Amino acid sequence: MTLLVTGIGELTTHDDEEPRDGPFAVVVDGDRVAWTGRARAAPACDTAVDVGGRAVLPGWVDSHTHLVFAGDRGEEFARRVAGRPYTAGGIRTTVDATRAAPDADLAARLRRHVAEAARQGTTCLETKTGYGLTVADEARAARIAAGEVDEVTFLGAHLTPAGTTTEDYLDLVCGPMLDAVAGDVGWIDVFCEDGAFDGDAAARVLAAGAARGLGGRVHGNQLGPGPGVAVAVAAGAASVDHATHLTDADVEALAGSDTVATLLPACDLSTGQPPPPARRLVDAGATVALASNANPGSCYTTSVALGVALAVLQAGLSVPEAVRAATLGGARALRRDDVGHLRVGARADLHVLDAPTVVHLAQRPGVPLTAAVWRAGVRVPADAPLSEEVHP
Ligand SMILES: [Zn+2]
Repeated sequence: MTLLVTGIGELTTHDDEEPRDGPFAVVVDGDRVAWTGRARAAPACDTAVDVGGRAVLPGWVDSHTHLVFAGDRGEEFARRVAGRPYTAGGIRTTVDATRAAPDADLAARLRRHVAEAARQGTTCLETKTGYGLTVADEARAARIAAGEVDEVTFLGAHLTPAGTTTEDYLDLVCGPMLDAVAGDVGWIDVFCEDGAFDGDAAARVLAAGAARGLGGRVHGNQLGPGPGVAVAVAAGAASVDHATHLTDADVEALAGSDTVATLLPACDLSTGQPPPPARRLVDAGATVALASNANPGSCYTTSVALGVALAVLQAGLSVPEAVRAATLGGARALRRDDVGHLRVGARADLHVLDAPTVVHLAQRPGVPLTAAVWRAGVRVPADAPLSEEVHP
């Protein structure tokens, strides 16, 4: 079956030879992009949809989420924004709730969040373990995630759980826990920050993952300067995520490497951090991705469009640069060539905006601008599935 999506007012394919005068059209054959160009030159197809002058871009590639969890941290968030101190350890609250939840509950919540993201234009999504922190609970999270999302990352090294030492826990993470998850994940990640794991520990985790064929990712430089970027680059990690507090040496190292700087501006906003140094990174020649960091604690949003708006309004990117980072940049951060663009052969992940140009993404922040989404050639439901329960 071929589908003609035509009447496109502005088409972003990330092809170097994009035609300039619209309207444009895209031909989808099965799950792939088969043709793009000016609408009047489009070949005949089995079916056609006219999008009425709307902008079309690749679906968002959200390369950083934490969506295998249970529980709700609304009260903690309310205390935080009210300026009142709280003592409960944030991640630990989610760990306790996640361990206590049945498999079906975790899977249903994950599916609901993935669907929520898809309705906002996210068509390729990575998610992580990291709220289990025992061999059995991390293995369970990896198995559940593998059934629901495009890319799964093992984040056993999220923090050292109560009742053990960092050294003992690292032995577990790099040994039996890694063995238990390896069949369900493609990536290994480590939270390299004061209060979590130091540079040596992060390097050890990445090396253990690499020995099992897993690609590397690092949470680094989120709350202050630190060794995260240097460790990620030295290990050839695909991405260092957050990257909010960077030295000139960090920026240079990223620019001279294949390690993507994955910026999470919605998280920086939510946690009171400064905006990420997106402009410096792009000017230096580093590859930048934008992702949501959707998680129940520090940043409970699945909106990549919010990150695009913030990257433009607060971090100095142009709209095309921000759009590129949230599509092609995310694909680079996941080392994928099939998503994040709409060149011929790409997975047919189309995001139709209820706007004539992508400029509206930053000009109209907070407005739901997703008009239609196809993922691998299949239309994503536009409305929330109200038949499914909302988990408190
Ligand atoms: Zn994260």
